[in-house]
Amino acid sequence: MKLVSMALSGFKSFARPTKLFFADGITAIIGPNGGGKSNIVDAIRWVFGEQSMKQLRAEEKYDVIFAGSSKIPAATSAYVELSFENEDEKLVVSRLLTSDGKNQYMLNGEVVRLKDIHEKFMGTGIGKEFYSIAGQGQIERIVNASPEELRLLLEEAAGTAFYRERKKESLAR
Ligand code: ATP
Ligand code: MG
Repeated sequence: MKLVSMALSGFKSFARPTKLFFADGITAIIGPNGGGKSNIVDAIRWVFGEQSMKQLRAEEKYDVIFAGSSKIPAATSAYVELSFENEDEKLVVSRLLTSDGKNQYMLNGEVVRLKDIHEKFMGTGIGKEFYSIAGQGQIERIVNASPEELRLLLEEAAGTAFYRERKKESLAR
């Protein structure tokens, strides 16, 4: 699975609808301090249900909605859509949060639970805190990880995390 494009609207500093395309190979995002580079990474985590305000660099959940500037009024919702592709599948996953409290996840145009998105991507390495997203400070976290944390990272990378979750669910029944 490869992230091919991403659309943001009202998410953090992305006040206006913005679309980013990722070509094959490595994409470098450059820009001045405060330009919104890290907000792009936050947006990916957010779509995968990131709950940690620290990870999202926010105080509370509505902080991801564009807060307004001298030129543009505040947004009433934040929306981020990620398009993934591999040889035989296309997946479009998105999240919408409105200032009046609606929080919705979608997979290929259908409203789904966050759990469905996690299951769909489990084992691909794609998600809010897996090896495919190494944010500022995370390399250090891996270096200093406990054996248990390291095992979880390896299981995700190896694609076996899915079975561990299933086993946990079966045992709980
Ligand atoms: P650096 O090079 O310093 O790491 P960066 O390009 O990663 O910078 P970001 O951290 O992505 O920059 O962007 C920070 C900017 O996003 C700040 O100017 C901040 O005001 C703005 N921002 C964050 N949340 C919101 C929001 N809800 N509404 C409007 N602007 C926001
Ligand atoms: Mg940054």
